[in-house]
Amino acid sequence: MLTRFAPAPTGYLHLGHVVNALYVWAAAHDRDGQVLLRIEDHDRQRSRPEYAAAIIDDLAWLGLVPDGAIVRQSERDSVYHEALRALVDRELVYGCTCSRNEINGELYANTCRDKALPLTDGVSWRVRMDPGVERFFDELLGPQEQEPSLQCGDLLVRDRLGNWTYQYAVTVDDHLQRITDVIRGVDLLASTGRQIRLARLLGRATPPRFWHHPLVMKSLTQKLSKSDGDTGIRDLRAAGWTAEQVLAKARDLSGNLRP
Ligand SMILES: [Zn+2]
Repeated sequence: MLTRFAPAPTGYLHLGHVVNALYVWAAAHDRDGQVLLRIEDHDRQRSRPEYAAAIIDDLAWLGLVPDGAIVRQSERDSVYHEALRALVDRELVYGCTCSRNEINGELYANTCRDKALPLTDGVSWRVRMDPGVERFFDELLGPQEQEPSLQCGDLLVRDRLGNWTYQYAVTVDDHLQRITDVIRGVDLLASTGRQIRLARLLGRATPPRFWHHPLVMKSLTQKLSKSDGDTGIRDLRAAGWTAEQVLAKARDLSGNLRP
């Protein structure tokens, strides 16, 4: 098993992250697997180096030690360009000038598909999601099926500011890093079909296994905020919590489930 812990440095590490980390490290530990740390700083406007540094420091404090070198998405622009080239050659990528306001919710109507706009900065880039169901077996939730063309339409892979999107960067990285198991919160379940589709287009023959675990209930963290201070690990450390206490709280919030 090769899995990963992949926080976005748009804030400090919080208890929700630690719950996910416990699932990831427990699954790897139980199977003699390894955990890679990937800093998902693909969004250059929202990511901050000081958050990344704090996340790495808090993980070390918790005793959650990753294997191998830390990968930072902000350093992989050429990797993402290179991975997209085969799709561009197959005319699966096109430029889109629609604003967020013109797109009603998550489902894009493929408005720009046949406009043949060049792939330049200042336009967003999309990959065609042709009709077809993606079926996969979630290790925690059982059989799933999703239809990307009805969920999201043609998939945004790069925005008009030149940021690679979460969906694209994570799929390229999981493919090129040969991740065998993706262990994450159930809030990302709906993204799985489009990531499997995109991975296949990128040349990945067999998708990774997926494990979608329950999220820390918002009501629980709100309750925690009131009774125990903030859920940020920085703040808990400053308030005198030990690493053991933080891990125990996260274990408690996760319902002591082990994948
Ligand atoms: Zn468009």
